[in-house]
Amino acid sequence: MKFNALVSRKDENGGVTNAVEMVGDDKLPAGDVTVDIEWAGFNYKDALVLSGRGGLVKTYPHIGGVDFAGRVVESEDDRYRAGQGVILTGWRVGELRWGGFAQKARVEGDMLVPLPKGLSTRDAMVLGTAGLTAMLAINRLKSDGLPTDGGEVLVTGAGGGVGSIAVLLLSRLGHKVVAVSGRPELAEPLEKLGASRVVGREAVITQSGKALDKEQFAGAIDNVGGPMLAELLKKIARDGGVAAVGNAGGIAFEGSVLPFILRGVTLFGIDSVMQPYEARMAAWDRLSTLFVPAAYAGWVEEIGLADLPKMAERILKAGVRGRVIVDPRRG
Ligand code: NDP
Repeated sequence: MKFNALVSRKDENGGVTNAVEMVGDDKLPAGDVTVDIEWAGFNYKDALVLSGRGGLVKTYPHIGGVDFAGRVVESEDDRYRAGQGVILTGWRVGELRWGGFAQKARVEGDMLVPLPKGLSTRDAMVLGTAGLTAMLAINRLKSDGLPTDGGEVLVTGAGGGVGSIAVLLLSRLGHKVVAVSGRPELAEPLEKLGASRVVGREAVITQSGKALDKEQFAGAIDNVGGPMLAELLKKIARDGGVAAVGNAGGIAFEGSVLPFILRGVTLFGIDSVMQPYEARMAAWDRLSTLFVPAAYAGWVEEIGLADLPKMAERILKAGVRGRVIVDPRRG
């Protein structure tokens, strides 16, 4: 038996080429659950893999795709049976082992979660790693006292996958959300999604030169890092929390300890990749009740396997709005 996949290979110049190929089932890696993939997600990390950046892939030929959802074909794990819906995110699948840019994958049962009731495999990948990460960030902030009354919550990189889903989820939970986007054309769609106001990146990166600015936000979810994280920390109100999720704007940031020691601000790191089963399952269950697919419909772009290399160029230039999902049956 053979299946279609986007296969990445190293070329003689050290670059990476990507092409749709037929791959034999006998080439699938070892693992105890084989899945027919119905949908995969497309994430910033996938763009790095397809463009050969970041040194994430150690062996070629490779199949990328850090998240996917589908139906079990064969299972040696008692928790999963043929036909059951499953979701995979994280565990460095799509980097260190073959991932979701294919019609079939084989992984360890420990890496999967069952598809929660009420979510289709398509919904699961509309959310994907981005939705799971947004939910984990919100859970972390809320368990440490993010107020539900008053107090705006800032979301940076709001036009991207994690940011846009965080805006929707926070507003569904009753928070006033301030969305930060470098794309003015996204102001209206972000308000429709639930933002109470939308500001440009410069509104946060004010470069006041001070160690503390006026207290403006009860908390924040930061997808950008770099100067954005340093500047927003200065604007968080007493006892507020910041979830550091991403590095779309850089990994280094310079700041002072004053937000922590004079205002009791807490900085939480969010890592969706190595989350244990219970935490992932709890987050997916919560997502299945909070997420409203119809409200998010305008934020989803569907592509096939052959469209992936071009999409990688777009996502690296912040040219994608919301989530991109991949139908591997489309070729
Ligand atoms: P996207 O590429 O979809 O979104 C990132 C957004 O950040 C862009 O849409 C843009 O939003 C903004 N942005 C991009 N470049 C810059 C810049 N130079 N300065 C300021 N803002 C910028 O990525 P995702 O939403 O999927 O992921 C967001 C980040 O989180 C990424 O860094 C990703 O690697 C990371 N991530 C981390 C996870 C974890 O477990 N910690 C899991 C998933 C993702 P706009 O145009 O609206 O300003």
